[in-house]
Amino acid sequence: MLERIESTSERNKMADLDKLIGSNGVPTHWYNIVPDMPKAPAIPLHPATHQPVTPKDLEPMFPPSLIEQESSKEQLIAIPEEVRDILSMWRPTPLRRARRLEQALGTPAKIFFKYEGVSPAGSHKSNTAVPQAYFNKQAGLKRLATESGAGQWGTSLAHAGGMYGLDVAVYMVRSSVAQKPYRKVAMEMWGANVYPSPSDMTNAGRAELGVDPDCPGSLGIAISEAVEDATSRSDTNYALGSVMNHVLLHQSVIGLEARQQMQDMKEYPDVVIACCGGGSNFGGIAFPFLHDKFKEGKNVRAIAVEPTSCPTLTKGEFRYDLGDVAGLTPLLMMYTLGHSFMPSQLHAGGLRYHGVSPLVSQLYNEGLIEAKALSQLAVFEAARMFAHHEGIIPAPESAHAVKAAIDMALSCKDTEKPMTILFCLSGHGFFDLGSYADMLAGDLTDATFSADKMEESLGKLPSVQVRWE
Ligand SMILES: *Cc1c(COP(=O)(O)O)cnc(C)c1O
Repeated sequence: MLERIESTSERNKMADLDKLIGSNGVPTHWYNIVPDMPKAPAIPLHPATHQPVTPKDLEPMFPPSLIEQESSKEQLIAIPEEVRDILSMWRPTPLRRARRLEQALGTPAKIFFKYEGVSPAGSHKSNTAVPQAYFNKQAGLKRLATESGAGQWGTSLAHAGGMYGLDVAVYMVRSSVAQKPYRKVAMEMWGANVYPSPSDMTNAGRAELGVDPDCPGSLGIAISEAVEDATSRSDTNYALGSVMNHVLLHQSVIGLEARQQMQDMKEYPDVVIACCGGGSNFGGIAFPFLHDKFKEGKNVRAIAVEPTSCPTLTKGEFRYDLGDVAGLTPLLMMYTLGHSFMPSQLHAGGLRYHGVSPLVSQLYNEGLIEAKALSQLAVFEAARMFAHHEGIIPAPESAHAVKAAIDMALSCKDTEKPMTILFCLSGHGFFDLGSYADMLAGDLTDATFSADKMEESLGKLPSVQVRWE
């Protein structure tokens, strides 16, 4: 153990991310951007006392190792071999050049993409589901409970739990189960129990069913059920799929690999693009490149792409808010639309989130990264074009990054120095064909955004003094 710590601090001194790729191409360490940030993010506060949260406050929810990662100032954190073993089943993920797309666009720009859809669950969320399951198992937990709206997080956690022999209970919004029945089947094949929510498993669920036996459910109800399940049993924890620092830490494998893969091709991106819901695939691919920007003076841009119907970075406010609707997380200093804001229905369910990771928010507030909002119709057209030329049907979330990359490639058509673009294709769209069916049938509309509803939701937030380190 001591030796490991020594070699970690050695590596820190070298600040060399190149040495972090193992012989099988999978990173040996996660990269934590916090010590490299020009300004550290504000301190998370207890939602009731507004005092800095302590590790003790987080214990009902997370195992000690994840709590330590959440506030770690170490630049590099070793990935346990038991986690690398599982990740190595599909990592390193492919990094490909989209030559056919470039040709179709008639652009001299080079477009590269990192494809995270090759994980068993079909998205980048497995990169954090696996270590979260592992650290919970290590801490003696027997079971994890979570909610699933769009379904990607439930799918990833079901797979990861199955790998380590943990039971997983997924409370999945009833209407979503009806829309995407095969997600439920996949989760059950990995051994998870899927409860269409509201269910009769919890007080919260039974209360809803008492009022309306055919209640279609909502994300809020599903979260209440998962939280009640986890907090009422000592063998069960709750798990979050985005936003928190430890989640972004786990996702750094995407950028570390991509950085090495670009280097192997003697390339380096001018711009790194990713879609942004809670910010985990964006942080995952962008942070190792931002290391080069902050520490080595590299001139690299990073762009987070969100839907116009849920424009957290581009329209929200930078202030303390709860990370989740249930109020289980601390108050986090982040861009938010207010945790009671209900974004309109859109097909990219994974981007329908009120806040953005505090790390991403802090960097955006200082102008160190950029953000852009795109409309659903334009995004779906880009998905169709990408599928046609590159063969992969993107998840509707990932299609936001595709559209932004296409726009960027077209914008430098007549410039002297064509750009090298790297984007994250965070998942495939095979579970989302219903939404593409809507597009093909001409039934797709642009989801709307109400600034008044956002103001109303922000108006309900407590005004809290910002606490810096
Ligand atoms: C959940 C999800 C997202 C959005 O989450 P982030 O934390 O912002 O990455 C994006 N793409 C896919 C495929 C997802 O499943």
